[in-house]
Amino acid sequence: MNPTRDGKPSLVREAFLANALLDPDLRAQLNYRLWRITDIKGPNECWLCKGCGKYPVIEFKGHNLRAHRLSYALHNGPVPHGLFVCHHCDVKNCVNPAHLFAGSASDNAWDSAKKGKNPMTLNPDLSPFKKHWLTDSDKQRMCDLRAKGVLLKVIGAEFGMSDTHAKMVMRQFLGQTKTLRASARKALSEAPPQ
Ligand SMILES: [Zn+2]
Repeated sequence: MNPTRDGKPSLVREAFLANALLDPDLRAQLNYRLWRITDIKGPNECWLCKGCGKYPVIEFKGHNLRAHRLSYALHNGPVPHGLFVCHHCDVKNCVNPAHLFAGSASDNAWDSAKKGKNPMTLNPDLSPFKKHWLTDSDKQRMCDLRAKGVLLKVIGAEFGMSDTHAKMVMRQFLGQTKTLRASARKALSEAPPQ
């Protein structure tokens, strides 16, 4: 067992949280502590936790509980042992339970890879999260909506992600299509005259 930032082995903290969730009084206190410092928005939007740090922590009865793990546990029950709580939206201080999922280290790496943060090449057919992939026509549709002046958060909501993530997806997609067009033009200009 590796000690964590609050000096307690993570298993002790997880066991504490699992027990606390079963106690209606402690559960109510945990709910209060988490939502008190969270900007709760629409069901598809990111709910930003205003605690400090990349992954805000809630100090509760001598345990440092990460806000996103706490949000997951309050909605789904304790995080299965050894699993990470990952973000679909890629916003680290988001605690919207709809944006959180429990995954293994490889799911986490896969999630990073598909968001272009991790250079690892993974086999897409192996991922349980393949259904969350956007096709090029989805991305094109997002860009078309944006060109028509549709708000980022509306586009994000339609595709189940935050406005920040939607913006990132479109920016990457437009960058890719620009590169493709440029290389197509180059190939054409280099083609021998007919
Ligand atoms: Zn989010």
